[in-house]
Amino acid sequence: MPQSDAQFDQVLFQNSFVEELSGEISADTKPRQVPGYCYSQVKPTPVCEPRLLAWSEELAAFLGLSRPPEQGPAVDALAGNLVTDSMKPFAARYGGHQFGNWAGQLGDGRAISLGEITAGDGATWEIQLKGAGPTPYSRRADGRAVLRSSVREFLCSEAMHALGVPTTRALSLVSTGDLVVRDMFYNGNPQPEPGAIVARVAPTFVRFGNFQMMTAANELDNLRALADYIIRHFYPELGQPSATVYVQWFEEVCRRTAVMVAHWMSVGFVHGVMNTDNMSILGLTIDYGPYGWLEPYDPTWTPNTTDFSHHRYAFAQQPQVALWNLVQLGRALTPLVPDIAKLNQALEHYRATFTATQQEMMRRKLGLTSVTQPEDDALLEDMHQALTTSEMDMTLFFRQLSHLAPALHASALDEEPLFRELIEKASYIPEPTAIHEAMMAWLRRYTQRLRQETASGETIQKGMLAANPKYVLRNYLAQEAIEAAESGDLSKLKRLMEVLKNPFAEQPEHNDLAAKRPEWARFKPGSATLSCSS
Ligand code: AMP
Ligand code: MG
Repeated sequence: MPQSDAQFDQVLFQNSFVEELSGEISADTKPRQVPGYCYSQVKPTPVCEPRLLAWSEELAAFLGLSRPPEQGPAVDALAGNLVTDSMKPFAARYGGHQFGNWAGQLGDGRAISLGEITAGDGATWEIQLKGAGPTPYSRRADGRAVLRSSVREFLCSEAMHALGVPTTRALSLVSTGDLVVRDMFYNGNPQPEPGAIVARVAPTFVRFGNFQMMTAANELDNLRALADYIIRHFYPELGQPSATVYVQWFEEVCRRTAVMVAHWMSVGFVHGVMNTDNMSILGLTIDYGPYGWLEPYDPTWTPNTTDFSHHRYAFAQQPQVALWNLVQLGRALTPLVPDIAKLNQALEHYRATFTATQQEMMRRKLGLTSVTQPEDDALLEDMHQALTTSEMDMTLFFRQLSHLAPALHASALDEEPLFRELIEKASYIPEPTAIHEAMMAWLRRYTQRLRQETASGETIQKGMLAANPKYVLRNYLAQEAIEAAESGDLSKLKRLMEVLKNPFAEQPEHNDLAAKRPEWARFKPGSATLSCSS
C-alpha cells in the first residue's frame, strides 16, 4: 500500500528477500563463513546519539515519507536504534573478485537492510543502513562508517540521480555520536573520527557477487532461488524462469551495465573500486567509496590510492572492467544454463549497447545529432587525445563548448579567438603554449563538422546544455563540505545538495561551484586522492 507522508518509524515494511530466500536466524555477529544461506538475519547495533544531518526531500516525497525532526523515533530507526515490528533486518551473503582475484565470502559487513517499503509508484524499495554495526560478514572490521565517507555517499548518490545516471539513492545521513577509528592514509596512524549512517535506497542491493558466492560454494539451489527471486521481482517482463529466460535476463543485465558505464564515461565519473561485489544486478551505480570526477581530462586517472600501482579501475578502463565483471557473472550462471555458448553470446549485448549508447551520448554532448558523417568516428576518437594533452577540465570544456556552439555554427566568423577563450577557461595549462595546438586543430575540425548540422544554432545549444552538466560533485567540493560538517557546519553540504539537484541549470549565483579546481586541491588527500578507508 502506498503511504502518504508517514514518519519513517511508522512505515510498514515488507520482507520479500528474507521470506523468499533461505537465511540463518542467529543473534551471533561473530565473523564467520555462513555456508548454505543467502543472508543472515541480524539487528543493527545501537549508536550513542543519532541526529539527522541531511535528508533527501525528493526521494522522501517519492517514498511517501515526511522529514523527521533532528532527533526522535524516526531518526532512531534510520540509525538502527529502533527496529520496528514489521522490519526483519538482514545482511546479505555475497562474494566477489577484488582487483581481479577471487576473494571468497565478503557479504554485507556493515550494511544492514531493514526490508522494503512501497512507494507511490507501487514498486518496492529496499532500505539499507550503511554503517549499522557488525554482522557475520564484518571479517576483521567494525561494521561502522565514518562521517566523511557517508557524506560522500549521500551527496554523490543523489547528484548522480539528478544527472540521470542509474544509481542507488540515499534518503538520510545521520550522525551517530560515536567515534570510529580509521587509519585514513594507511600509514600506521589511526585516528578517531565521527561516525555516521546513510540510509540507502534501491529496488535491491543484490550484486554480481551474490551469484558468484553460490556457484563458488556449489550451492546451486540458492543460486537458482536467488536468480528466480531477482527475475520475479525486478525483471517480471521476462516471465517464468527457465534456461532461456536466464539467458535473456543475463542479456538485460549486460545491456543495463553498458548503459550505466556509458553514463559514467559521459560525465567523467570514476567509480574507483569496480570489484564484482560492487556491481549491481540492476545496473545501478552502487557502493560509493573512493570514487572521483575527472577534472583535468586524463583517461589513466583514478582517485583510489589502493589502485595507484595498476590503475585497474582508471577512467578509461571502466568499459573493459565492466565487461570482465560480466564475464565473471556469466560464469556464475553456467549451472543454470546448459548451453554455455548462449551466455557468451549475451556478452555481445554489452559491447553493442555500450558502443551505441556512448556514441549517442557523445554526439549529444557535441551537438552532432541531426546528420551522420563518415568523419565522425575519427572526430570523436581524436577528441580524447586533444582533451588529455590540453589538460581540459572535462565538465567546463563541454559546458563552454555548448555556450559557443551557436557562434561556431554560424559560418563566416573568425572562431580562433573563441577557441583560445575556451582553452583559457577550461584548461589547467596556462596560455599561450604550443601544447594547445592539438586542441586548436581539433576545434577547427569540430567547427567544420558542426556547420553541417541542419538544426539551428539555438536548437543545437539547447540540446548541448541539456547533455553537459554545469555542476558535478567536484572532488574538492565534497571535501570542503566534509571538513565543514566535521566541525559542525552543515551549510556547505546543504548548498551542494541544493545546487546538484539541478546540474544542468545555470544557477548563476552558484558559479563558484562550477569553477576550475583550485591549485591547492591538486594533491590534497580527499580531493585528489582517496583511500578505501571509510
Ligand atoms: P568495499 O570495498 O567497501 O565495497 O567493501 C568490501 C567488503 O568489506 C564488503 O564486504 C564490506 O561490507 C566490507 N567492509 C568494508 N568496510 C567495513 C567495515 N568498516 N566493517 C565491516 N565490513 C566492512
Ligand atoms: Mg562494497
